Amino acid sequence: MLIVSKCLTGECCRYDGRSKPDPEICALVEKGLAVAVCPEQLGGLPTPRVPAELTTTGEHVLIGGGRAITRDGRDVTREFVAGAWAALKIAKEAGASRAILKAKSPSCGAGEIYDGSFSGRLAEGRGVTAALFIKNGIEVETR
Ligand code: SF4
Repeated sequence: MLIVSKCLTGECCRYDGRSKPDPEICALVEKGLAVAVCPEQLGGLPTPRVPAELTTTGEHVLIGGGRAITRDGRDVTREFVAGAWAALKIAKEAGASRAILKAKSPSCGAGEIYDGSFSGRLAEGRGVTAALFIKNGIEVETR
């Protein structure tokens, strides 16, 4: 079983109230081969929502060494971390060993994510959920 970012399935769960459908991922979910999660919604954030970026990488946020901050300065670290744990619980219940997540996101990105300056610049790192998945043995790829 695969676990996938919900916005890749056509669900309008992104911060801007839109989605990023990926035909291959949509087909996998339709066939029952993938389970979709949106960690930010699972953490209690509304849609649409003010976008957030991390002050550091997801690994550091998970151990209290960094924060998730919205563009207007609100600390949403608690929601990001809660959403990551809720997504991991669903992944484990589904028996998922692989994930395909949305690139660049402060929750789902892996490899590079937005650098915390809200300027569109990217930096090496993982989102909070991607970091938690990897820490728990789930292989993560992004698109
Ligand atoms: S990138 Fe992740 S957290 Fe953001 S909308 Fe998509 S599924 Fe939700």
